[in-house]
Amino acid sequence: MNINLNTFTSFTTSNCYVLQPFGDDVCIFVDLPPDLQDAIEYVKKKNLSIGGALITHGHYDHALGLKDFNYSSYINLDDEFLARNPQEQIKYFMGSSDGIDSYSGELKYLEDIPYENINHYTNPGHTKGSTSFEFPELGLIFTGDFVFRDGIGRTDLQSGSLIDMKASLQHVFMNFNEDYEILPGHGPSGKVRSIKSNNITIKECLND
Ligand SMILES: [Zn+2]
Repeated sequence: MNINLNTFTSFTTSNCYVLQPFGDDVCIFVDLPPDLQDAIEYVKKKNLSIGGALITHGHYDHALGLKDFNYSSYINLDDEFLARNPQEQIKYFMGSSDGIDSYSGELKYLEDIPYENINHYTNPGHTKGSTSFEFPELGLIFTGDFVFRDGIGRTDLQSGSLIDMKASLQHVFMNFNEDYEILPGHGPSGKVRSIKSNNITIKECLND
């Protein structure tokens, strides 16, 4: 099946993925960075219909695009506050959050996802509500800032926890199918198997 997976990397370095997982013209977004224009343009040009967005966590570099996205968006309830209130994060990273408002539009939760062939795993550590989305028929897992090919998400930000991260690596990451491809929130993708053997940070966390 041709899934037409496209990656749009934001100026914030986060990845916005657009894929057609059902073999038709319905596309799903994974994460909504602040600059969605290229992804939206692509969807319009290809005449796709948008089936919604899966948001891996509430940080602004993955969720600020909510304000420009008028379709169903699914997020872990535990990260709703971060997604709705990006000001503090933006101030921390950019120095100022002038002109940034809270998001008061509609949000849906993981249990509302209407597609049977998408699994979700809560993997707290980077944020409390961090979530991975798995497409078993395609062998793909979108991990956000939980697991990168060459590292893991930082645990020192608001609602982050190294203890939770270690537990998530042990109980979520280690149970991922080794043949599946991980598509992270930043940087390049990698097979679960090769990340398990090459990702030094994960090895250190698991042995600690
Ligand atoms: Zn993040």
